[in-house]
Amino acid sequence: MNDSLFQDAKQQLNDAAKYVSISDDTIERLKEPKSRLIVSIPVRMDNGELKVFKGYRVRYDDTRGPTKGGIRFHPNVSIDEVDSLAFWMTFKCAVLKLPFGGAKGGITVDPKKLTRFELDRLSRGYINAIADFIGPDVDIPAPDMYTNPMIMGWMMDQYSIIQRKIVPAVITGKPVSMGGSLGRKTATAMGVFFVMQSLIPKFTKSGKKITVAIQGFGNVGSNLADLLYQAGYQVMAVSDETGGIYSAMGLDIPYIKGFKESTRDLKEVYAKGSVRELMGYEHISNDDLLKLDVDVLVPAALENQITCENAADIRAKVIVEAANGPITREAEKVLEQRGIPVVPDILANAGGVTVSYFEWVQNRMGHYWSEEKIHGLLKEKMTEETRMMWDIATSKNIPMRTAAYVHALNRIEQAVNARGTKVYYTGVDKKGEDV
Ligand code: GLU
Repeated sequence: MNDSLFQDAKQQLNDAAKYVSISDDTIERLKEPKSRLIVSIPVRMDNGELKVFKGYRVRYDDTRGPTKGGIRFHPNVSIDEVDSLAFWMTFKCAVLKLPFGGAKGGITVDPKKLTRFELDRLSRGYINAIADFIGPDVDIPAPDMYTNPMIMGWMMDQYSIIQRKIVPAVITGKPVSMGGSLGRKTATAMGVFFVMQSLIPKFTKSGKKITVAIQGFGNVGSNLADLLYQAGYQVMAVSDETGGIYSAMGLDIPYIKGFKESTRDLKEVYAKGSVRELMGYEHISNDDLLKLDVDVLVPAALENQITCENAADIRAKVIVEAANGPITREAEKVLEQRGIPVVPDILANAGGVTVSYFEWVQNRMGHYWSEEKIHGLLKEKMTEETRMMWDIATSKNIPMRTAAYVHALNRIEQAVNARGTKVYYTGVDKKGEDV
């Protein structure tokens, strides 16, 4: 993993700070995470061996409320990555006006190599290690890459065993039968979809089908492809870790999604098949996919996919970041010079944490809403915050990412100021003048 991911992430904050009158107190607070926990998780493997895995939980900032963010299981998980993801969660929650700060967690592991029993023990071992660090009013984890409702269920169960009471609100993204929310599984994709419905018409010609390429066919990529297909967009290419498929006529997404799901045994945690096994479509690499001549490019996989190596070859009219941090800072400069707008991750993929918030509220009320109600609330929130971000971007003539940070910073600043600032305590402003 790139060592400078976190440094890069923090630069996005500096870019935005130029456009908003923000106190030194706020900038100072946001420079480093509130706390970092690094743990060793011993797991008895099925062959009797003991393996020790490295786990992390970073709570970035809790000025606006308990911290919130997912748990990633991936071989590339590092403290640098978790710091960055926790930083982005802080702004994501503020952009969506959720009463949360940001956090993130992860384990350095290739979960596809573990058996079901090993995965269960690892998930519970992680909670044993971080139980004192989380809680419904402190820090609330959720799924992220390669973690899913079943894993969240094991984790909630383990936390409840430790606490000797059922604590559903400690984790979101649980199975519905264990207090999960309807609509959570597809929430991130649906959020991206609502943001696209609001913004894409501003960048494309009306009257013709909008073409899209999606990198990544996991929970977000596959559900988004489906929503776009149903809404009449033409999805030209999709990909997974093994590569991509393309059709000049547009792909039959329900067929591809159905195939991918059919390779997942019902009791299995991960799908085994690849979109590449489907006959009749042209094979392309993940890098080719990024360079396709489409209206909208949606990176929905890992960080650092669009770099200075390929940014000059991107042909899409607009990029929508369904993944967290898919564009490096250097690449973003190239895209900006080339006039390719980017709808930023902290807005575009915030639908997941938004429905996580609805799940947390339902857990605390002990009353559960219909899927229709969840979709309605999600649409309202995503559309409203997208509109506010767009107004900032157009009125200040700044990129959408900077506008989203400005929007979030204003809200974080209010919460910092509410506790008292240097000006409040000393009566002297930034320039040293009495106020
Ligand atoms: N992992 C998701 C994200 O990056 C969801 C986090 C949550 O629901 O708390 O936004």
